[in-house]
Amino acid sequence: MDLSLSDEQQSFRDLAREFLDKEAVPHRIEWDRREAVDLDIVPKMAEIGFFGLTIPEEYGGLGGDYVTYAIGMEELGRADSALRGIVSVSSGLVGKSILFHGTEEQKQEWLPQLATASKLGCFGLTEPDTGSDAGNLTSRAKRDGDDWVINGQKLYITNGTWADVALVFARTGGDGPKGVTAFLVPTDTPGFEAREIKGKLGLRGQATAELFLADVRVPHSAMLGEEGQGFKIAMSTLDKGRLAVASGCVGIVQGCLESAVEYATTRTQFGRKIAGFQMVQDMIADISLDADAARLLVWRCADLIDRGEPFGVAASKAKLYASEAAVRAANLAIQVHGGAGYVDEYPPSKYLRDARVMTLYEGTSQIQKLLIGRAETGISAFV
Ligand code: FAD
Repeated sequence: MDLSLSDEQQSFRDLAREFLDKEAVPHRIEWDRREAVDLDIVPKMAEIGFFGLTIPEEYGGLGGDYVTYAIGMEELGRADSALRGIVSVSSGLVGKSILFHGTEEQKQEWLPQLATASKLGCFGLTEPDTGSDAGNLTSRAKRDGDDWVINGQKLYITNGTWADVALVFARTGGDGPKGVTAFLVPTDTPGFEAREIKGKLGLRGQATAELFLADVRVPHSAMLGEEGQGFKIAMSTLDKGRLAVASGCVGIVQGCLESAVEYATTRTQFGRKIAGFQMVQDMIADISLDADAARLLVWRCADLIDRGEPFGVAASKAKLYASEAAVRAANLAIQVHGGAGYVDEYPPSKYLRDARVMTLYEGTSQIQKLLIGRAETGISAFV
C-alpha cells in the first residue's frame, strides 16, 4: 500500500495551490459578500486544468486520474467552495454524464467545451417536490414527431443562471425511477428560464437557480442515454460527484486547520500564545485528525475508481464523513479564533457556512447512511 503522491500529483497540487492563493483567496470574502465570484477566473482555472482533469485527452481534457482530481477539488475547497462547485457540477456531473452515457456526437460537441470551460453546464435533477426522492420527479417530456417537448421546474440548481447547457431529468414513462429520461438542453432554447436564488447561508459566490421549462423543444438527439435510463445515469454520476464534494470538504478541514494553527500561534492571552493551552490543542488535534481521516477515505475512493473497482459505497462513506468533518472543523476553528472567528475577515465563518450545505446536497447525510446501511444489510430502507 503506497499512500504517497506521485511527482505529477504533487506538482499539480503545488500548481493548484499557488494559483488559488494568488487568484482566489484574496478575493473570496468580496465574492461572498456580493454573492457572485468574478467569472473572469473561470478561463484561468480552465488553463490550470481544473475543468478538464478527468476528461480524456481525445475530448480536450487532461485524461488525469481520480486521485489527482481529488487533490484538485481539495485545493479548490480550501480556497473557495463556490469555485469548487462550479467545476464539479460543470465538468463533473454534466461532463461525466456525457462521457459515460453520451453518443459520440454528444461527446464531440460538449466535452471539449466543458473541459476548457468555454461553456458551463448545470445538472437539473432536484424539483420543488422531489429532492431525496428524485426517482419520483414530475417534470415531463413528451414525444412530438422527431422532437421532445419538456415542461417542469427544477430547484436549487448550481450554475443555473451561468450554464450554457442544462442536463435535465424528465419523466417520459410511467411512475418511479424507470420512467425518467435525461436530456441535454441548451439554455438558450425558447421556453427555458433560470432565476437566481439569493440569500443562501453559504456558497454565496456561486449561482444557484430555479429552472423553469415551458414547452422546451429539443431534438431526439438531445436525449442522453436511452429512454428510461435517466435515473440510473443521475445516480451513477452522483457517485463520482460525491468524491468531488468529499474532496472539497477535505480542503475545508485543511483550511480550518491552517487557520486555527496560525491564529493560535500568534494570539496571546494570559501572557502566552493560546496554542500553548491544552484545551486549544485539543481542538486543533481534533481538526487535524479529521483532516487525515477524511482525506484517507477520499483517496481510497479515488483509488478504487482509478483501478476500475466498485466505489459507490466508498464514495458515500467519504462524502458522509468529510462533510460532517468539515462542519465540525469549521465550528472548532471558530472557537479557536474566539470573537475573530465570528467575522468574515478570518476564514472559519465562511468555511462553516459553505460546509453546511455539503451535508445536504448530492444526497443528505441521512441518505448516505441509507446507502451504506443497504450495502451492509442487503435491505433497502428507501421503499
Ligand atoms: P428533502 O429530500 O425534502 O429532505 C429533508 C430532510 O428529510 C433531510 O434531512 C433528509 O435527509 C430527510 N429525508 C428524506 N428522505 C429520507 C429518508 N428516506 N430517510 C431518512 N431521512 C430522509 N440539486 C440538483 O439537482 N442540482 C444541483 O446542482 C443542486 N445544487 C444545489 C446547491 C445548493 C446550494 C443546495 C442547497 C441544493 C442543491 N441541490 C441541487 C439540491 C439538493 O441536492 C437537495 O436539496 C438535496 O438532495 C435534498 O433534497 P431536499 O432539499 O428536497 O430535502
